[in-house]
This record gives sequence, structure tokens and C-alpha cells, in this order.
Amino acid sequence: MTVPETLKLEARKAALLNAIKHNGRADIGAVMGRLLGTHAELRQKAAEIRPLASQVVDEINAMSPANQQKAVEENWPEELGKEKPKTERTLPPLPNVDKYPRIVTRLSPNPDSALHLGNARAAILSHDYARKYGGTFILRFEDTDPRLKKAGLKYYGLIRDDLKWLECSWDKEYLQSDRLELYYQHTEELIRKNGAYVCECIPGDFKRLVEASRACPCRNATVDENLARWKRMLGGEYAEGEAVVRVRTDLDHPNPAVRDWPALRVIDTVKYPHPRVGSKYLVWPLYNLACGVDDHLMEISHVIRGKEHLTNTERQKYLYRHLGWDYPDAIHYGRLHLTGVELSKSKMMRLLEEGVYEDLSDPRLGTLMALRRRGISPQALRAVVYEVGPRPVDATISWENIYAANRKIIDPAARRFFFIDRPLPVMVSGVKESRTARIPFHPDNPEMGSRQMTANATDGKCRILVSIGDLSILKPGAVVRLMDLFNFTVNQVNQVGVTGELHSETYSEARRVNAQLIQWLPEQQNCKASVMMPTAEKIEGLSETALLSCDVDEVIQFVRFGFVRLDTVAQDSVALYFAHR
Ligand SMILES: [Zn+2]
Repeated sequence: MTVPETLKLEARKAALLNAIKHNGRADIGAVMGRLLGTHAELRQKAAEIRPLASQVVDEINAMSPANQQKAVEENWPEELGKEKPKTERTLPPLPNVDKYPRIVTRLSPNPDSALHLGNARAAILSHDYARKYGGTFILRFEDTDPRLKKAGLKYYGLIRDDLKWLECSWDKEYLQSDRLELYYQHTEELIRKNGAYVCECIPGDFKRLVEASRACPCRNATVDENLARWKRMLGGEYAEGEAVVRVRTDLDHPNPAVRDWPALRVIDTVKYPHPRVGSKYLVWPLYNLACGVDDHLMEISHVIRGKEHLTNTERQKYLYRHLGWDYPDAIHYGRLHLTGVELSKSKMMRLLEEGVYEDLSDPRLGTLMALRRRGISPQALRAVVYEVGPRPVDATISWENIYAANRKIIDPAARRFFFIDRPLPVMVSGVKESRTARIPFHPDNPEMGSRQMTANATDGKCRILVSIGDLSILKPGAVVRLMDLFNFTVNQVNQVGVTGELHSETYSEARRVNAQLIQWLPEQQNCKASVMMPTAEKIEGLSETALLSCDVDEVIQFVRFGFVRLDTVAQDSVALYFAHR
């Protein structure tokens, strides 16, 4: 099935671009040409697409040339050879704002896991739109499936923590498992209005009938009969699978999955107790009923969600029609492909259960917990989300996009420290006395202060530690600068260490002889430091004792290694998580 929304957007883009080139008048032929040019598979359906394109062209031609220009600038600035302004990112306006007394949005996670990158878009957009219009942002836990997508008690709190970290504060919170009586009331009303019926068919039989656009026998039962069945359902007279409430739809709806969709079913909560309300209820609403009823009762004005929900929107509109409600404005954004991120929740949870991942903050995961632990800032995620916005076209982002956004935020503020993985001793002769290096925490921000490290010298010999990783630089004859200390000439290199001779003191001298700069640590004054990498590999090394007085959560840069977040600070050691280079 084609997604008309996507095609419509493409038609709109083509029409706008054509219009601004031709004095505000788009040409249907040009728009069709562009659509069929990019979608060869649609050529056979040209006759079907033409009315859509024609309608879009009429809409665009009704706009003033100034507004046409503005629409292109806002949505496709690259077509005008312009880049989006990077500094002040804003969200495009919501549609039909004037229709509502108040803008109300919601995030409705199932607490069967913590939030992951894919949820960040819905959370940030829903929250920020509510704030933009001075409205209300609701957190609603959708925990009405005690069987297949069973909630876990700990996830309610983890999701709240995720949202706080994302700076998405919510004004109201609801738990659907507290609202079953409300769903029952509306189901009864729905049945009374003949908008739903209780189906006792064997699921396979129902499926065969509905796929042939045929009614099952229950569909023709009277309202009274359905009310009686509904009472029996609530009274526990049906076992699992023996009865389901269905919402009446068009039986010839083009998508069989929409036809008479299931709204409530029986779950044996003695066998599958709900983590919050145990075995109190046997009849549980399915997603579309609970969500549909709640969006109305909570006066949601704009539902902002991925286009995988388009079918759910179609289903819920039947419910709204039966009950005489107005459906909110639904904004379906395109799919976000996150390259290199494990996002399938079920797969993630399975591997977690199998012990492949220790917990949801495992650095290999795309959960917000993992990102937080690695030192990715919520502002970076916000920047990435604003970049893709609520647009219906699919987009791809990679870890590199997230890292680039994060680097921009943390680089100006992250203090610098030296880290050495696999230390290698270096003995430099010709050093008459011990040196204390005063090293600024940030090369560009002297106001951030500095720390001191002393390289001890005895009998003209100074002993320090460098990283084995720098062996490629430490070649006999090479002049190497130990950062903020001195320059030395390498004499000998072997497995146990490096010897050398003092060459000169200053950085300018190091530049003159093209010396490479490497970080170092005093032989005595250092502390153990382990870095958890994104692969879950742990690198054990040494770092500066100054780290022992830092606070957990500080994001710092290990010079020539990358940005890391302080995860634990013990008496003589620190543990860090790697963010990115
Ligand atoms: Zn039936």
C-alpha cells in the first residue's frame, strides 16, 4: 500500500518548487513529471495519482507567492541553495492551533522497557510543542497488556528518569491500568450506540470472513444481546480467546486489518497478573481503544507520532465517529533510521534476559540510559530531533550525527586530562631537577584553571609514563614533546621502556623541529582509570590523581583519546564511560 501522506508531501514539494520558478503558478504536468520521474513504480498508476497531484497544485496556486517562497525556505532550504540556520532551530507551526482552547500533547510509552533513541523524537516534539504554545504535556503509561507487552514495575520510574534527563517535564501523569472502569463505561456506550459488538467467533473463522469483507454472525446480534454478552464478559464467563469486543467499521475497508478491529479481550490475569493491579480485571482494552478513549478524555489537541501509526489513526477514527467525538489533529512523522543502533525493543529485551547485556545502560544499546551514561547531552539529542523535526519524509541519522551534535556542546566546557592505556616507562636523562608542569584544563579557556603534575628527577634522570599506543611515534632519533613538560630525543626503545635525552624546553622549539606531542603521567602520582568503550570492552589504564576529586557525571576529555563521562570515583581509582572522539 502506498502511503498517500508521503506522496502528497512530495507532490507539494514539486508544486512549490515549480510555482516559485513560474510566478507563483505550478503546472500539473511538471508536478506529475517530477513524481513519476522519481517513482518509476508509480507510472502505471499515473491516472490514480493525477487527482491527488491536481488537488495539491490547486492548493499551492491558491497561496501567495510570498507564502510559497516561505514554505520552501522552511521545509527545503537546500533547494534554494541555502542551509537551515544552525543556531536557532525552531519547530514548524502545528496545524489548526486555533481550533483548540489549549494545545495538549502526550507521550504514551508502554512501561515494558526504558526509553530509547527512537522514543526521544516523540518525547521531545510532544513536549516542546506543548511548551511552544503554552499548553499541557501529558505522560500516559499505556500498560494494558498484562500478557504480551507486560509492564515491569521498575520501568515506570526509569521512564520518568529518562524524561527528566531529556528535559521534558510533564504537567499531568496517568496510568491506564488505573482507568479500566472508564474504558468499560465507554465500551458500554459504544455497544448501546451499536458501534461495537461482542464477537464469540473462533479467531480463525472471523479472520476468514473479514478478509472476504463478510460479517461474522455476531455482527448482526441485537444491541441487547451484545450488552448481555458484554456483562458476561465482565463477569468472567468467557475464558481467554472466547470473546472479544469489536468496533464496527466498513467491512470493505481497503485494509483488512482495520475491519471490525478488536477493542477489548479477556486475559487470564490469574495466570498472567498485571504488575500493578494483579488479577483484579479480566477484560483488558487493546491499544486503540484505550488510546482513543484517553486522547479524547485528556483533550489531546495534537497527536504526534510515527507514520507506523497511520493505520491506528484510521481505526480510532471509527471509534470517534461512533461516539460523536472530534478526532485530534494527528501528525505522523517519517521513519527515523538509526544506523548502527539496536532499536528493536523485543530483541533488546531478549538479549537482556539472556544476559548478553548487563542492563539497559549497556553502552552497546541505544537506550537513553546508555546515552546518558556515556555522556551524551540531552541538548545534543534535541538538536538532532529538531534537525529531522516532525516531517513525514523518512530520515536517517547515524551515531556520527549524534556525536557531532554532542561534541559541539561539550567541547567548549569539558576539562582535559591525560589518560594512558597500557603504561610504558620513559627515562629521560639530562634533566637536572624535578619539574612541575602547570597544565590548563582547557586550551582555549584559561579561566577554567589548571592542574599541576610533577615529573621527579634524580641523578639527572626523569622518569615518567607514556602510552604503549605511542610507540609508533617513539622512534630512535625522533624528538617528542611531553605536553606542557619538555621535549626529548628518543634513544632506545624496547619492550620494557624508552630512554631518551632532554632536547629542549619550549613548545615553539617543539614546533620548529616538528616534534609530535604526547600525553604523559608521573611515575608515582597517578590513579587507576578504566574506560568502558561503546563495544562494552573495558580499557584499563592510568590517569591523573586530580580526577579523584572530580564529581561523578562530569564529562571530560582524555587528551588524544576522546570524551568520557565519570561513572564512579573511588578512593584510588576512577571508572569512566566513553562517549566519542
Ligand atoms: Zn463473531
